[in-house]
Amino acid sequence: MQSYPDTLLHIDGAWRPAADGRSLPVFDPATGAEIGRIPHAGRADMDAALAAAERGFAVWRKTSAHDRAGLMRKAAALLRERAEDIAWIMTREQGKPLAQSRMEAMAGADVIDWFAGEAPRAYGQVIPARAPGVTQMTVKVPVGPVAAFTPWNFPINQVVRKLSAALAAGCSIIVKAPEETPASPAELIRCFADAGVPAGVIGLLYGVPAEISEYLIPHPVIRKVTFTGSTPVGKHLAALAGQHMKRATMELGGHAPVIVTADADIGKAVATMAAHKFRNAGQVCVSPTRFLVEAPVADGFIDGFVRAAEAVKVGSGLDSGVDMGPLANDRRIPALEALVADAVEQGGRLMTGGRRIGNEGWFYEPTVLADVPASARIMNEEPFGPVAVINRVDSLDAAIAEANRLPFGLAAYAWTGSARAAQRIAAEVEAGMTTINHLGLALPEVPFGGIKDSGYGTEGGSEAIEAYFDTRFVTRLD
Ligand code: NAD
Repeated sequence: MQSYPDTLLHIDGAWRPAADGRSLPVFDPATGAEIGRIPHAGRADMDAALAAAERGFAVWRKTSAHDRAGLMRKAAALLRERAEDIAWIMTREQGKPLAQSRMEAMAGADVIDWFAGEAPRAYGQVIPARAPGVTQMTVKVPVGPVAAFTPWNFPINQVVRKLSAALAAGCSIIVKAPEETPASPAELIRCFADAGVPAGVIGLLYGVPAEISEYLIPHPVIRKVTFTGSTPVGKHLAALAGQHMKRATMELGGHAPVIVTADADIGKAVATMAAHKFRNAGQVCVSPTRFLVEAPVADGFIDGFVRAAEAVKVGSGLDSGVDMGPLANDRRIPALEALVADAVEQGGRLMTGGRRIGNEGWFYEPTVLADVPASARIMNEEPFGPVAVINRVDSLDAAIAEANRLPFGLAAYAWTGSARAAQRIAAEVEAGMTTINHLGLALPEVPFGGIKDSGYGTEGGSEAIEAYFDTRFVTRLD
């Protein structure tokens, strides 16, 4: 029987506790019981990680792109080999069903391979000159040591996108991984260490997030900041990065609209969107949340969605046949209870769910609300849980206006039988990513990122590595 490991910091190629011996607890969301400890990094640990990242950068930037890619592919192979054990660890600490944890680990290996492929393709340009004898060119050079802050909903996925892009570009990186789900990202980093990535290239810290970000972001060694998490924290960290002129990528919250027109394939839309809504208990930045369904098909859509929600088997992610695990931390329960109570108070209809399940662990029912007024909190704040709001709209114009009402702009979904409606949605809905009539988000080779209050920059596709390069211009007269 596998046991849940205590996690250590990774500094200068060594796994170690905090210099002053402090530690923090890790809880199992399915039981609420403490299952492990993580070191609480202090100033001495952060200084050691920064000094190692500076040395690591000096080594890594001189390692050829082909050699970097080779080591990354070895790490990907190790991750695939270890996926089963790592999935079990992730489910213990995060709660999601084992199949989803396994998929996350395997998808992480694909992300590494994809960025490994990008490493030798960091082409500069030769720009035709105006005068004879002049050569003008650009070269891509790694920006420098990176500070990365990642959340608890996808413990591996959120780290691997940042880590792989940074390593492919030739940067070193210090990851402040999530304290609540620490052991699976540590196992990811172990794959890189075991593959032979040199000491100092990857650092791993845990502690109090604000203590670490306030120290690392302004520190002169750090040249680039990347954060995934909530919009308020992202704005705070982006401001700090701006004050110190550090490059930043921000993957923040969303409140994804789903437009369903009357001529859509309703059966397919319900089945696909319900599975997507309750995946990872809705703790997904691109989770579909505001369903905007044309009136003639709204009742049928709501009925179908309610049936799908009631068919979701909720339980410990380690048990077979479970579709949805607990919420990842105890904060989500009162947050969801308050949002649902407010929606009902404001006239929304609770169609199913809306309650915590049991007293042990942090389980919450798959929940569907209908006809919720725009003034309700849940229509304005990211629920980050297994709650769908299904509202009826009179026209495509009204649906697009509601989709664009909020300051978020991460993912948008649409189901329609009309090419004209699909074109309008693609052109007019303000979202970093729009997927129409199928689910097509989050592959390594396509952009992943938001606009407006959902942040800036992309963590997928051929542009993702650009955030880790400076483009330098050189002109020479021979
Ligand atoms: P939170 O806002 O306290 O934290 C969100 C994330 O930011 C966590 O990973 C946390 O460790 C980190 N963080 C918080 N303060 C920080 C700081 N000063 N410096 C560096 N990192 C910091 O909220 P929470 O209770 O953990 O999560 C709730 C909300 O966060 C959700 O409602 C959702 O909107 C958002 N969230 C988004 C994502 C995402 O994938 N975009 C992931 C997790 C959480």
